[in-house]
Amino acid sequence: MIIVKKYGGTSVETPEKILKIAEKISSSKDEGNEVVVVVSAMGKTTNYLIDLLHKVNPYPNPREYDMIVSTGEQISIALLASALSKLGKRAISLTGFQAGIDTDSTHARAKLKRVYRGKIRTLLDEGKIPVVAGFQGMSPSGEITTLGRGGSDTTAVALAYALDADVCEIYTDVDGVYAADPRYVENPKHIDKISYDEMIEMAAHGAKVLHLRSVELARRYKVPLVVKHAHRDGKETRIEGINSMEEPLVRALSIDENIVKVVVERVPDKPGIAAKIFEKMASNQLALDMIVQSMHKDGKNDVAFTVPSQDFQETMNVLDKIKAEVEAQNIHFDENIAKISIIGVNILGSSEIIYEMFSAIASVGANIDMISSSNSRISCLVPKNKIKEVAQAVAKKFDLVENAS
Ligand code: ADP
Ligand code: ASP
Ligand code: MG
Repeated sequence: MIIVKKYGGTSVETPEKILKIAEKISSSKDEGNEVVVVVSAMGKTTNYLIDLLHKVNPYPNPREYDMIVSTGEQISIALLASALSKLGKRAISLTGFQAGIDTDSTHARAKLKRVYRGKIRTLLDEGKIPVVAGFQGMSPSGEITTLGRGGSDTTAVALAYALDADVCEIYTDVDGVYAADPRYVENPKHIDKISYDEMIEMAAHGAKVLHLRSVELARRYKVPLVVKHAHRDGKETRIEGINSMEEPLVRALSIDENIVKVVVERVPDKPGIAAKIFEKMASNQLALDMIVQSMHKDGKNDVAFTVPSQDFQETMNVLDKIKAEVEAQNIHFDENIAKISIIGVNILGSSEIIYEMFSAIASVGANIDMISSSNSRISCLVPKNKIKEVAQAVAKKFDLVENAS
């Protein structure tokens, strides 16, 4: 089998953990597999590097951001390759560039353009174990780029596709995908198998167990994805296939605290205003969500939406520039919000499910701010300080917690 194995930050946070992982990779190779490893920066290294950069410049040039954050993964690949060679394996560390990962030029959130299989294929043919730096690539002009936080998962899936691998295994600090993030909900149910579409909704709305783009790529190219614990054998989650059920069913909930609500207040109620507001955001590739327009009686509208916290500053810069042009009275923002989403099959087809979600949120005295929905998801903004209580209540309501036995 050709297997791509990706190890996340917490799985490689100490030299001891790196040595343990090297043993597992080595055994998989001894079983006759061709193994390619993708690895993230150790523990919280990426956060540390970003903080360091912000100490010298709070608004760094994105090129320099990529230059510094990409170093985290370079430490891990050299350590893991060295641990593997201590075990007698021929392992070769490769940066994104050396591995043939080409991206566009959008620093800090680059998109993959092409992944060349040649170099890695040759190393595999020579019986070696390529150890590739996750999250990084190279732009057309030869600059180092990164794929956005959590992007090593996407590197792994892209390599799995390029090499026509049998499976892409994502090793992390949980033994699979749960019906809710265990940091918010006590004792959530384990999910053994989930469709690409459901996993995409979960990842798009805060479940950072998998990088959104990794699941999108896996769906497009039908790469079988498995999530496992890096240091414990046992349960796992397979992400594959499509949904075959029709019955409305809530499968999971996701939480996103890293968003900010922005309101462009009292713009004229006339054609072209919304287009103008969103034109510049689109050209800056800002990831907007939950767009709502509310009408006043005096010919004015409020246009509200959410942006990921990391895009907030850039969004405000754009809005400051167009505020006069769209005749907005004020730009208001709120960071004390969090989004809870329920994800499943044909959810909107069931008014019962909608009612139950709202009543669970009300049961802990939380006020609902914005609401958005799709056929497979309902999302509500609630106050940040209530999010744990809300998550617990919603999880209970939809039977997403393990019954005490
Ligand atoms: P890694 O460093 O291995 O990439 P991440 O921190 O990116 O790990 O992802 C693993 C984390 O994702 C878990 O520790 C868990 O808190 C979080 N998570 C969020 N939603 C879920 C979910 N539905 N199921 C499992 N883990 C989840
Ligand atoms: N090290 C990067 C991050 O922390 C990429 C990753 O872990 O996937 O975001
Ligand atoms: Mg991750």
